[in-house]
Amino acid sequence: MKISDLGEFGLIDRIGKAAPRNAKRAPIGIGDDAAALLLSPASMLLATTDMLIEGVHFDLTTTDLYSLGWKAAAVNLSDIAAMGGVPRFCLTALGIPSSLTVEQVDMFYRGLSDCITKQRTVLVGGDTCASRKDFVITVTVLGEAVRKWVITRAGARPGDLIYVTGTLGDSAAGLELLRSAECGVRNRKSGNRNSKSAMRALIDRHLRPVPRVAEGRKLALSGLASAMIDVSDGLSSDLGHLCEQSGVGAEIFADRIPLSKELTSVKGLNQQPLEYALSGGEDYELLFTSPVELEREIMSRRVRATVIGAITRKKGMRMVTEKGDVHQLVPGGYDHFLRLRRRGSVR
Ligand code: ADP
Ligand code: MG
Repeated sequence: MKISDLGEFGLIDRIGKAAPRNAKRAPIGIGDDAAALLLSPASMLLATTDMLIEGVHFDLTTTDLYSLGWKAAAVNLSDIAAMGGVPRFCLTALGIPSSLTVEQVDMFYRGLSDCITKQRTVLVGGDTCASRKDFVITVTVLGEAVRKWVITRAGARPGDLIYVTGTLGDSAAGLELLRSAECGVRNRKSGNRNSKSAMRALIDRHLRPVPRVAEGRKLALSGLASAMIDVSDGLSSDLGHLCEQSGVGAEIFADRIPLSKELTSVKGLNQQPLEYALSGGEDYELLFTSPVELEREIMSRRVRATVIGAITRKKGMRMVTEKGDVHQLVPGGYDHFLRLRRRGSVR
């Protein structure tokens, strides 16, 4: 069988089913943002790892090494945030091609260190190898959480409201701007005069995402969230994961999805702002659910989040348009083995 017959998530499922399990010591293993492992009756070790491969996840023509180091750390910190945990330790394993200079490696670590230091996380180990061609980066982050406060993807219940922190879609639009050669050229071609600062803001959100560790922690400590995931693949895909793990469906409202003023103001992009939000990915915002009666408390604790819809008993995802039409929302996002970025479609 070809791996592309299964796709990325089918393959992960298969690996998970074949792996030995220990539900007592590893109550949350494969399938959530991070594994939650029992250290003592009350405390848990959180563990997550993410790989970035040149030519697949990044291109050295569109990122500087500082940003790459920052992002490699941020995507892992975001997975710890999505469990409501505190990141503590970091390990980095690199496959380095001969084309990279020592100064570039220094810059990579400057970016990584700045990102983890902001979260009081320390680099404690890793591995260093030569790579034949591409720069390969694996970052692992270990964190901690109080057992009863860990937030998984599986706790959403019908009636819960669906929230998202920050704004969605900026990162994917930023990537498009980076790829479209030079922003100035693009502007001249399309006849648009986009503000440099708006374009810079979108690009920054792609290159240096800010993991929402404080928000995740606040939600965990207050016990307000019933389920949580970080938005790494796009809203339609990650909401899909949360619904699947919780055994529920969802209804979201198109006009409630938070979009930045930069995303809505920049002209000449290939897609509509909403499309970037639904299937762009790499936002690293937190998507969470919470019982409807806790809405006031969430607002009073100043978790900067927007209600975008509600969890339903009926499975599947639906999106209500501005006009009030209800459409089926089909998960989009990137699948490594299908080698395509599917648009989250609305049917
Ligand atoms: P995220 O986007 O939150 O990093 P992924 O989609 O990469 O999550 O992975 C989903 C789940 O599958 C996670 O729990 C991850 O640890 C697990 N996983 C992914 N690949 C493997 C693998 N090769 N072996 C074991 N677990 C894996
Ligand atoms: Mg995640």
